[in-house]
Amino acid sequence: MQKLLILSVLLGAVLGKEDFVGHQVLRISGADEAQVQKVKELEDLEHLKLDFWRAPAQPGSPIDVRVPFSSIQAVKIFLESYGIEYTIMIEDVQSLLDEEQEQIFTSQARTSSTDNFNYATYHTLEEIYGFIDLLVAENPQLVSKLQIGSSYEGRPIYVLKFSTGGEDRPAIWLDTGIHSREWVTQASGVWFAKKITQDYGQDPAITAVLDSLDIFLEIVTNPDGFAYTHSTNRLWRKTRSLTSGSSCVGVDANRNWDAGFGLAGASSSPCSETYHGKSANSEVEVKSVVDFVKDHGNIKAFISIHSYSQLLLYPYGYQKEAAADQNELDQVAKSAVEALTSLYGTKFKYGSTYTTIYQASGNSIDWAYSQGIKYSFTFELRDTGRYGFLLPASQIIPTAQETWLALQTILKYTLNHPY
Ligand SMILES: [Zn+2]
Repeated sequence: MQKLLILSVLLGAVLGKEDFVGHQVLRISGADEAQVQKVKELEDLEHLKLDFWRAPAQPGSPIDVRVPFSSIQAVKIFLESYGIEYTIMIEDVQSLLDEEQEQIFTSQARTSSTDNFNYATYHTLEEIYGFIDLLVAENPQLVSKLQIGSSYEGRPIYVLKFSTGGEDRPAIWLDTGIHSREWVTQASGVWFAKKITQDYGQDPAITAVLDSLDIFLEIVTNPDGFAYTHSTNRLWRKTRSLTSGSSCVGVDANRNWDAGFGLAGASSSPCSETYHGKSANSEVEVKSVVDFVKDHGNIKAFISIHSYSQLLLYPYGYQKEAAADQNELDQVAKSAVEALTSLYGTKFKYGSTYTTIYQASGNSIDWAYSQGIKYSFTFELRDTGRYGFLLPASQIIPTAQETWLALQTILKYTLNHPY
């Protein structure tokens, strides 16, 4: 094992992978508004190169931040001088990355069908695209692959269509991986795709859904970012588009939608992890979904899957005002979360994005809701911060299983409450 690990580390160095040796993830607790404001000041100090995994929000909610080795002393002194409490969540980010690489390396196997595909490990873009082709070939009567566009760097953007026939049926939209480093989401998307093909005709609930509705599933919503997390920087979140006049790359694809675009809760600085882009839909990865959803015209539920924090959210994120369907969305969220928790006891909170986490303008579900898609939800999957984006592969299947129970609840509700 040790030899493999050394090999993979050396390989990483040879291939020019960004290393995170000595980087720590701190969990900061802002006790009151003044302390939260102080942490927000840290966010603006670009030279510290901080990476907020959970951004400052209300007093009492955890703030997680990855701190490069060179900034650790400065950040700790800053926090201590204002009496702000923190704990070290991840002692050394690189050692978790090494464990992850080792796990991937030891579970590599040739895949000739989706039955022997390894759902309990993380896969590259090529492997996921290979899986998609196998699934379509094995289930031609149920699954097809649509290309809805090409990414900034020219990669195809694929959507899986699950349909049992009919024309212009009402449909459900599901996407995973719009933030590329949230690896458990793409892995769950793969698992959901297989699950749908296994359960159709067997499980009465999903069979009833697919006998009336189509399901569209975009597993790799940000292909360039995802390829980059494998090749160069495991913690890449944004797209890979270039911004003229800046050396910083990429846009936060979940701040780029035409819903309260550019309001608070997104950054106008191209170097920020939440940079909203030069205009709404500037990112082709966003524009492709927008065009697809508009052209389709009959999407009834729009569900975007992220990690981490264990939350189920509904509009709005860009404004405090409650959505017109707030009561109904809250009831649906409540039953979805109950179903999720029933499997392994995983606790989820639910509510509007604005009130449950923080203001986030230009996000996908606010846009979907503005298009008249009533059942618009965002999931934040496991965990609550022990591993954050570096969730061990052993948790992929349990995460996908419990999430599927919540998704099924929303699917069934959509089927039974047409509008
Ligand atoms: Zn995300």
